[in-house]
This record gives sequence, structure tokens and C-alpha cells, in this order.
Amino acid sequence: MKELFANSLNAKLEKISGKSSKNIKRRLNRAVAAALLDVLCTLPQRKLTEQKAAYFSAEFLPGSFVTGSLANLGLEDICAEVLKRKGYSTDFFSELADPALGNGGLGRLASCLLDSAAAVNLPLDGYGIRYKYGIFKQSIKDNEQTETVDLWQEDCPFEKENRDETVRVCFGDCTVLAVPFDLPIASKTRINRLRLWQCEAENPVDFSAFCSGDICAAFKDKNLAECISGFLYPPDNTESGKALRLMQQYFFTAASLASILNDFKKTGRSISDLAEFIKIQLNDTHPTVAIPELLRLLTEDYGMDFDDALTLCGEIFSYTNHTVMAEALECWSVSLFSKVLPNVYPYIVMLNNHMKNSLKAHTQLKEILIIKNHTIHMANMAVYVSHKVNGVAKIHSEIIKASVFDSFYSLTPQKFLNVTNGIAHRRWLCLANKGLEQFANKRIGTEWRDDLPQLSKIKQFNSPADLEELLKIKYENKRALSNYLKSSFNLSLDPDFMFSVQIKRIHEYKRQLLNILGVLGLYLDLKNNELKDFHPTAFIFSGKAAPGYYNAKQIIKLINSVAELIEKDQTAKKYFKVLFIPDYNVKNAMKIIPAADLSEQLSTAGTEASGTGNMKLALNGAPTIGTLDGANIEIVDYAGMENNYIFGAKSEELEALKSYDPMDIYYTNDRISRVVDLLKQGPCGDFTALFNSLLFGDYNPADRYKVLLDYPSYMSARKRANEDYKSPALYAEKMLMNIAAASHFSADSTVKNYNEKIWKLGSF
Ligand SMILES: *Cc1c(COP(=O)(O)O)cnc(C)c1O
Repeated sequence: MKELFANSLNAKLEKISGKSSKNIKRRLNRAVAAALLDVLCTLPQRKLTEQKAAYFSAEFLPGSFVTGSLANLGLEDICAEVLKRKGYSTDFFSELADPALGNGGLGRLASCLLDSAAAVNLPLDGYGIRYKYGIFKQSIKDNEQTETVDLWQEDCPFEKENRDETVRVCFGDCTVLAVPFDLPIASKTRINRLRLWQCEAENPVDFSAFCSGDICAAFKDKNLAECISGFLYPPDNTESGKALRLMQQYFFTAASLASILNDFKKTGRSISDLAEFIKIQLNDTHPTVAIPELLRLLTEDYGMDFDDALTLCGEIFSYTNHTVMAEALECWSVSLFSKVLPNVYPYIVMLNNHMKNSLKAHTQLKEILIIKNHTIHMANMAVYVSHKVNGVAKIHSEIIKASVFDSFYSLTPQKFLNVTNGIAHRRWLCLANKGLEQFANKRIGTEWRDDLPQLSKIKQFNSPADLEELLKIKYENKRALSNYLKSSFNLSLDPDFMFSVQIKRIHEYKRQLLNILGVLGLYLDLKNNELKDFHPTAFIFSGKAAPGYYNAKQIIKLINSVAELIEKDQTAKKYFKVLFIPDYNVKNAMKIIPAADLSEQLSTAGTEASGTGNMKLALNGAPTIGTLDGANIEIVDYAGMENNYIFGAKSEELEALKSYDPMDIYYTNDRISRVVDLLKQGPCGDFTALFNSLLFGDYNPADRYKVLLDYPSYMSARKRANEDYKSPALYAEKMLMNIAAASHFSADSTVKNYNEKIWKLGSF
């Protein structure tokens, strides 16, 4: 395979002349993609009639498909070699746009699972939307986030348009076309597929019945059909915006079901066998409208009676929950839903009636109904119909049984299970961190590439020479990040600083505010001559705030303002650096993660379902400073408490907390009040909104996420980490233990778990 790939790539590169030719990056990317497609032709091809699982997800966050395929096929080294012989480096991969068709962890999980399914030879296809614009491109102007559109399609040569498999999707009397664009997800043993749907108008369609005015300004003069596959999460603060989101959800799930049923017809089997052909995993509630849609198809097109159709749906669907926050569970008003999807709504009513009849005796029936107070509760529908419901980390799966779905749990405990998230280690280690990959290969061979648990053997290699080599690799990665930041963003970063990294969506529950207040705390210590023996530290942030989320945007502004404050202070800048790296996405994550010395995982206990950033950072040798939340708990179980910096209230302690008034802390703890006071017309500007959210509350209770409560223990954890970092050998040992621990978090294992516990493919 390597030879074929190398020959093909060589031939394609021959045709590109001159390093400075126009569009060279894109042309090189296309050449590598074309060489990969030549290789794919020689692999076992898809069997359409084969039993499979389908992953329905509103988001995918794949990063470059080209590099992902190189990693999955083990071709990244030969690719680099061939390019190098022709005088090219592989830097261009990170200079092209990411297909950022997702927001964060949920979309990234979808992509990790697809990559791993191919690798472990499981038939799993992804289904989603070919958003013209993915998540916005972020830049920082005057310390604030600015948002512009990100065009990715030109940089994604891997797609194949399959217009002959176009299907129709109806919204009441209006019909649109769903055109599939397919991406191969390959390994040496199989080619799976990600199918992304593009919406097009068949005839000029008049959607004014449901949508008017301001749905999306960028499409002012265009047809709404283009809006449906236009944006990821269009603003939903208006009725028309809400309608558009519902249309998106229905658009891709209805198209996917139609295409799956078209495939099924080719098997010639009876419709009652459908569940032996397809299993559908609902990634969160966004695709849940697939349930009433399939009920509709089975009854109207295939003549099944409702109860049989429901039984079949139960065998087909399963649901992954991603949030424990009750207010984040998706709801639709009956009036909007019935207007946008008049053909589907009756099936929701039938489901609701079915529930009323079959659960008559249940005391909590009212709570768990699908339709309550003229509102449709999508999660209740997903749980009621699905045969399995999973959380994404041990603690999260326990919490959903005890809180949001407790009534369902008492009814059908056998439905509930846990499948802890995992990561595609071939991307996050083999591709992103060549130095560490070779460190492992030299010591334990290469089998771990296809069997990550074997990487745990690395922990024996803790001699002074081993640890010194590990530190050298980390230092090289830090230098590489510094160089990248200089050339891409004109930001400077000293690799001798400790790199403390918090990279994830900006959200109050993730508590970037705790981190930056902590920096201000250290700054005050320095000013008061209380900072002793502190190893200079760079506090590195990266992440996007939802465009309508005011407090999150204020947090970004605060981070950048503190960065400025420190930069201007000749003494402070010797000890601290605050850096906000714009436009967090997969390609930037691949540069930042290998360079991290410390992984900041600060969510209030009980709020982060799992996290996967925590796993990627541990795999690259960064100990965690974090709360006992999500998968942090499992990471620390494997890596040892003593090799991480755990702090903060536990979820059961917060649960037991009867009342919480941050004002009490403010008045009794001088260190805290001095830091918090800096938010009010302090040296970095006016952040009264954040000050108020901490002390008085806004639309949420005061300090809802317990920043002040956990501040003291966070600061002492920081101190321990800084202290340990000053002993390189000691710290390197902790790094090694975390790398070994992360061997438990391969998405290969996760996807095998989904199959063993939920889909059971191949067992019919
Ligand atoms: C891994 C990843 C995430 C998820 O990070 P968390 O820390 O788990 O929230 C989000 N975005 C990108 C680009 C990622 O690679």
C-alpha cells in the first residue's frame, strides 16, 4: 500500500511545478487526496447490503479528512517523506481551512468514533449536514471576539457529490432536494462513509408561511433551501430562527432515513427485518425527530400498524445523552412544530398517547410525557422509544439515572448504560506528536498504534535517561508551538515558561473565569511581594463563545485584557504570560496539545458530561489540574491522584449544599475580594457584568458555577503544580503516568463498547 501511495503521490506532484505557484497549498492537498483515493480503490469496497450502524449527528468536527485518512491508513510518514523529497514540508495541512462542521466535544466525538469504527472494522456510517459555513472563524479585535464566515469546501478535496442518490424532503406542502456528498472514512480493512446532505430548491419554494424576516442576513436574497444547509446553529432567539433549526434537524434525518430505506430495498428483505439491517445512534437530541419520521414512513409507506412500527423503532434507535443540565434539554412548542412539520407532528401525538395508555399506573407519568404544557420534550421521546440510553462517562451516566431521567430509570433500568468517551489516538498522538510516538515505538514497539491499551507498558520506562528524553520531546513541542504562533498570529511565547493550557468552548460552567481570576490573584501576590519561587507560567487559552452569549464574550475580553495588563508590566511579564490563541479548531488543537505542561479541566463538579480534551492532553503527557468531574475522575483513577492536581467541591458535596451565598466568601476572604474587585473598573477595564454575575446573579443565581467556592483550593492546587514543575525529573514521571493512563481512552475501545452493548452488529 505504501508503495502504491508513494508512486501515485510522486506522479501527482510531478504535475505541480514551482513552490510558489498559485494556490500551492490547495494543490498539494489535492495531490495527497488523489493519491489516497488511488489507494482506496484497492481496498475492500463497501457492501451496501451489509448490516450496519448509522451515527446521526448535527455536528462533525473531523479536522482535515486527508490527514485523518493518512493516520488511519498509517501513511503519514511516507507522505511526509515523498513531499520532502520534492522539497515540500507538511505545514500546508495546517494552513488550510478545517471542515469545522461542529461546535465542540459532541462533534469531535462523532468524528473520533467514525475514524475508530473504520480502524476496528465495524460498519458505521455518519450522517449529517453539509453546512456551507461551519462554525464561525474567530479573531480577536480590541480584546474582543469577532466572528466571520469560514469557507471550508474548497479545502476539502475528498468529498464526492452523489447527485444520483438525491432524495426529497417535505415540509408540509413544500419540497426540497437533499443532495448527498460522501466522504470515505477508511482503514486498511474497510471503507465507511460520512454522508453530508446539502439542501437545494427544486422549484422556487415559498417558505414565508413559517419563516420571515431575519432568519439569516447573509442569505437575504437567496432561497431558504440554502439556509437549511447554510449555517451550523443559526441564531434561535426568534421564531423564524427556531423554525430554521427544526427544519435542519428534520432535513438531515429525513434524508438519511430515506437513503437508508433505499439501501434496504436492495436487500430484498421484508420491512419487518429492518432492525437487523440498521441500528441508529442519536448523538444527543438534535436528530430525535428521526423517531416520528420513521414511524410515519413505516406506517404510511410500508403499511405497518403503529404498535409494530414502534417496536421496530425501539430496536433501531438508541440515544446518547450529552448534558445533565435540565434546561439544556431540547424542547419545541407544539405550535411551531406542527406548523413546520405538519406531517410528522401527528406521530408525536400518537407516541404521547401510547405513553399515556401504557404507563397509566405510573405515578410520575405527568413528568415524563413527551408533550407537556404545549411543549414537545425531545429527550423524553428519545428515552421512551430507544432501547438503550447512554451517558458518556461513569459519573455522567450515574447522574442521568439519578436526576434528569430518574423516572425513566425506575421504569426501565435495563435501558441505561455508560459508554465512556474516547479519542482517535492516531490523530491525537501519532499525527500530532511524532516525537512522543517515536519515544513509545523505541521502547514498546508499534503494536499500540492499533491497540492503545498496550501503551500503558510505557510507564516502566522511568529511568533518568528515559525521563530526560521525554522532557526533551515536550520542550521541542513547546518550541514548535511558539514558532507556529509567531508565524501564524504574530504572538510570542517563551518555551521556558510552564505551559498551562485551557482549550475548549468558552462557557461559564467550564470556568475559564476561575482560571483568569487565578492569574489576577497571582499578579496581586507579585505586587504585594508574596509570590515566592514561582516558575514563570504561560496561561494559554483558546476557545469560541457562542455569538449570542454575553458573559462568555466578556470572559474572552477579560482574558485578553489581563494579557495586555501583564504585557505592559515589566516585572509581571517575567513571571506570567496570558495568551489567547484565536480560532480554536482541530488543527490548532493538534499544535497546542503536544506542547501542554498542564491540562486545565475546571468545570464545576457535576456539569461536564465527560470531556475529551482532558483525554487528549493526558495522552500527550500533561497532568490535569481539575475537579472530580466527567472523565477527569476516570483519568485520575488510572493515573493516580498523586500525579494530578485535583481540587474543588465534589458533585455530591455541591448536591448537599443547602444554600450558597458567594457574598459570604467575598466578605470573609480578603484575597478573593481583592481579586473580584479588580473586575469593577480595575486596571483591565470594566467587567461589571462578570462582577455582578459572581456576587448578585443575573438571569442565573449569584455565582451559579461556584467559582468563589472553589477558588482557594484551585490556588493551592496551582501552587502544588508549580512547585512540582520545578523538579523536572519528578514532573516527567507524572507526565509518563498520565500518558500510560490515557491508554484507556481510545475511541477504538469506545466504539467497540457501543457495538457490544448497544448495536450488537454481526450477532444476528
Ligand atoms: C477535543 C476538542 C473539543 C472538546 O474539548 P473539551 O475540553 O472536552 O470541551 C472541542 N473542540 C475541539 C476542536 C477539540 O479538538
